[in-house]
Amino acid sequence: VCCVLLSHLIVAQVPVYKNKTAAVEKRISDLLNKMTIEEKILQLNQYTFGVNSNPNNIGPEVKGLPAGIGSLIYFSADPVLRNTIQKKAMEETHLGIPILFGFDVIHGFRTVYPISIAQACSWNPELVKLNCSEAARESVLSGVDWTFSPMIDVSRDPRWGRVSEGYGEDPYVNAVFGVASVQGYQGKNLSDPFSIAACLKHYVGYGMSEGGRDYRFSDVSAQSLWETYLPPYKACIDAGAATVMSGFNDISGVPATSNYYTLTEILKKQWKFDGFVVSDWNAVEQLIYQGVAKDKKEAGQKAFMAGVEMDMKDNIYLENFTALIAEKKIPISAIDDAVSRVLRVKFNLGLFDNPYTEIVDEPSRYLQPKSKQLATNLAEESMVLLKNKSNTLPLSSKINKIALIGPMAKDKENILGSWSFNGKSEDAETLFEGIQKEIKNAAINYALGCDFDGVDESGFVEAVAKANESDVIVLCLGEKKTWSGENASRSTIALPEIQEKLVSALKKTGKPIVLVLSNGRPLELVRVEPLVDAIVEIWQPGVAGGTPLAGILSGRINPSAKLAITFPLTTGQIPTYYSMRQSARPFDKQGDYQDISTEPLYWFGHGLSYTNYKYSPVKLSATKINKNQKITVNVDITNTGKVDGKETVFWYISDPVASISRPVKELKFFEKKEIKAGQKVTFKFEIDPKSDLNYFDSTGNKILEPGNFYIYVGNEKVEFELTD
Ligand code: BGC
Repeated sequence: VCCVLLSHLIVAQVPVYKNKTAAVEKRISDLLNKMTIEEKILQLNQYTFGVNSNPNNIGPEVKGLPAGIGSLIYFSADPVLRNTIQKKAMEETHLGIPILFGFDVIHGFRTVYPISIAQACSWNPELVKLNCSEAARESVLSGVDWTFSPMIDVSRDPRWGRVSEGYGEDPYVNAVFGVASVQGYQGKNLSDPFSIAACLKHYVGYGMSEGGRDYRFSDVSAQSLWETYLPPYKACIDAGAATVMSGFNDISGVPATSNYYTLTEILKKQWKFDGFVVSDWNAVEQLIYQGVAKDKKEAGQKAFMAGVEMDMKDNIYLENFTALIAEKKIPISAIDDAVSRVLRVKFNLGLFDNPYTEIVDEPSRYLQPKSKQLATNLAEESMVLLKNKSNTLPLSSKINKIALIGPMAKDKENILGSWSFNGKSEDAETLFEGIQKEIKNAAINYALGCDFDGVDESGFVEAVAKANESDVIVLCLGEKKTWSGENASRSTIALPEIQEKLVSALKKTGKPIVLVLSNGRPLELVRVEPLVDAIVEIWQPGVAGGTPLAGILSGRINPSAKLAITFPLTTGQIPTYYSMRQSARPFDKQGDYQDISTEPLYWFGHGLSYTNYKYSPVKLSATKINKNQKITVNVDITNTGKVDGKETVFWYISDPVASISRPVKELKFFEKKEIKAGQKVTFKFEIDPKSDLNYFDSTGNKILEPGNFYIYVGNEKVEFELTD
C-alpha cells in the first residue's frame, strides 16, 4: 500500500505534459492550462538571427533571444549552438517548452541532390522519398527539426525563378512528389529519431505570379484554385504533412496570408488539418504593401484571424497581440487553438522528451556513402535526353578526342542550384571530372569558350581550335544558380547571347555537338537546337552530377528521365502546358500565332532513351461502367532495342463533353518500370470513376457526370463510357 501511494505521489509530481506516456492531446491541454498569455504569444512567433548571421559570432544574438520563443529560423544549423539555445528555453523558463528549429533544407542538406524540377523528371517518387529521408538525417544531426519543403506550387511560367523549386506544371505530379518528400522527411512517425517536420509551401497559388514576376499578384480563378493549385496540398495533408506556409501572392485580391477561405475554411475545416500554418518570410508585414492592412497591428490581426498561427520573423505577433487581445480583436480561444497546434507539432516530434541534439563528429554527419549514392542515382534518373540525332549518343568507342567546352564543364558552384547553402562547392563533382573518370579511351580537350554571360568572345578561338582537333564536341552551357530560385525571375528564358554565339561558332567546325544544359527552368532553345546533334538536360544535379552525365554519354546509363515541365519554343509562347483547356477553334491551326507555331519545342513527358519501346494495343476490362465500377487498363510494352531500360508510362484521361470546358487531357497515373532488352512488361492502371473521372467545380464540389471518356497512353486513344 505504501509503495503504491508513493508511486502515485511521484507520478502526481510530474505534470501531465511532461509525461512521455500520456496522450498528446492530454499533454497539450495540461500545458495550455499552465501557460500565461505572454507565454502563449511567444509560441506563435518564429525568431531569426538572419540569413547571413555569422555562426562564429552568434553569442550576442542568443542573449537577445526572447526566452521561450516558439521557433527559430536560421541558426547556422550548428547542433552545439542549437543545444545552447535550447537549454535557455528548457531551463530558464518556468515551463520549459522546447524551441522548434527551422531551416530551409530544399534539395538536400550537405549532400546536395538535384533540384526539385529535376527530381520530378525522374518519375521515381520512391527514390525522392529516400533522398528526403537522407536529407532529414543530415538535418537532424545538424540540429534541424523542421524544413520548409516541399514546394508544391504548380507553375506554368518558366520565367518565374521558382519553377526550379517545384515539381513542374502538373497538379498530380506535384501531389505525388510532394507526398513522397513528406514521407521521406517525416518518416513513419514524426517522433522517429531522424524525422523532421515538413512544410508545404507556398499555400496557395504562388506559382501563378502574373508574368512570372516573383512576389507579385496572381489572378487565381476559383476554378483553377480547385482544379490546379489545391490538389497537391490536399494530397500532402492527407499524407500527414505537419505544417503549411502561406504564400506571398494573393488569390484574386485576397492575400494568401490573410485568406480565411483557403487557410481556415478549406485547410482546417474541410481538410481537418491539425498542424499549424507559418507565414512566409515577412509575409505578415507585406499585407501592408498588398494594401489590405494599414499598419503592422492590423496586418497581424488579419493574418492570425485568417488562420496563420505562426509569424515568421516579423515579430508582429509578439509586439501587438497583447493589445489586440485586450481590445478583444483577437479572442483568447483563437490563441489557444493556435498554440495547441504549435505544441501538437512539438509533441509529435518528440521535442519535449528529447529537446537536444546528439552531437556526432562532423565527418559522420554528412556526405555518407549512402547519401552520395542516392544523389548519384537520382541525378542519373533525372537527366533528360532531349535530342539525339542519328544516335550521336552514346558516344562511339572509336572516338579519340572529345572537345569539352563551356562555362559549366568545370563548374562546382552553379550545378548545386539555388537553396544549397549547406552544400559546399568543394563537395561537388564537376562534369569534367566525371567525364575524365569514365571515358578512358578518349583524350579530353578542354576549353572554357566563354563565361555564362557578358560579351567577351576572346575564348572562342581556343574553343574552336580544340573542337577542330576533336571528333566530337561536348558543350556544357546553362544558367548560374542565382538565375533561378526565389526573386530570380527572367523576362526571357533564352540562354544569354554569348552562349548562343559560342554554339554558332562551334557549329562552323562541322563536328557533331552534344549540348549539355544545366539550368533551373525550361529554356528557349529555338535558335540553338537546330545547330546541335544531341541535347542532355542535366538540370542542377547537386554534388553528384559528373558521373551520371558521363554514364549517359558513354552509354553505361540508358537515360530514363522525361520532362515534368514543357519547354516552350520561345518565351512569347508562355504559358504552354499540356493540360490546356479545350478551346473554340482547335482546327486548322486557327488562333495560332502568325509568326511561330503554338507547338512547344518539347512537351511535358518528352524524353528519349537508347532503346525503343513498343506499346501493344491497350486492353480494357470493360468499355462501359457505372460510377460504382472500375476499369482495368493494360498495356504491354516490349523493349525492342539492344539495351535494358526504364520506361515511364503516362495514363491520361480526357472528358470531352462536360458541364464546363475541361482540359484537353489530364495525367491520372504514371508508373516507371525496368524493361530488359527483348523483354515485355505489362503496365496497368485501374480507373476509379470517383477519383479519376470526376472534377472540381469552382466551389470545390466534386462533379461526376456520365458520358464518354478517352484514355491516352503512348500514341493510343481509347474510348469508354460512364453510364448513370
Ligand atoms: C521563401 C520561402 C522560405 C522562407 C524561409 C522565403 O523568402 O519564400 O520559400 O522557406 O523564405 O527562408
